[in-house]
Amino acid sequence: MENLQAKHERSLVLIKPDGIQRSLIGEIIQRFERIGLKLVAVKMLITTEDHVEKHYTLDSNWRITNGEKSIKGYVDKGLEPPTRDPMEMSGRTLNCLKKYITSGPVIAMIWTGAHAVKIVRKITGGTEPLTSDVGTIRGDFVLDSYQLSDNDGRSIRNLIHASGSAEEAEMEIKHWFSETEIIKYNLVQEKILYDVNLDGIKE
Ligand code: ADP
Ligand code: MG
Repeated sequence: MENLQAKHERSLVLIKPDGIQRSLIGEIIQRFERIGLKLVAVKMLITTEDHVEKHYTLDSNWRITNGEKSIKGYVDKGLEPPTRDPMEMSGRTLNCLKKYITSGPVIAMIWTGAHAVKIVRKITGGTEPLTSDVGTIRGDFVLDSYQLSDNDGRSIRNLIHASGSAEEAEMEIKHWFSETEIIKYNLVQEKILYDVNLDGIKE
């Protein structure tokens, strides 16, 4: 039962406006596709500030965890953050995010498969492109930092959003998609990824 649930985990991914403007749609989709995840919903849209605010506050802890993470991003580099108050820090970030995510079209997607949330986050990389690992989307295709974005009073441009946990993913999926937009289908490769006996290959 546990295995069955893990194999069907879902993650919500958004290609943010800069990802689209940088012509990275194909590259981003390819990275999730080639690891073995299944795309079950996709659409392009221009969203609203209200929708963005709700998206980031679906998780009631986001304000505090985002603020603490941003402050740590400064402290770890020996820099002084603009404020030591996590709520103030994330309040600024939220305002910037509304402008950023509504600045152009975004692509919303649902990817599903074993450990989808962790796998997607691994491929996505850390929040700040300056310190995201090489080999990740945020580490390979963009060069922003907390310092640069905060000095300019804007959001960090890091190409995509990816759900932080399975619970967050389920709330985000409901926020962006209706049930009828989510497609149920079998992907041939699932046989190789998840079949226990591999007994369907040889003639
Ligand atoms: P992640 O997208 O990695 O899950 P968060 O949920 O903490 O990160 O933050 C949401 C988004 O807000 C980030 O992807 C980034 O675009 C932006 N952001 C986060 N912290 C800051 C900050 N201190 N300054 C500017 N933008 C930020
Ligand atoms: Mg997040």
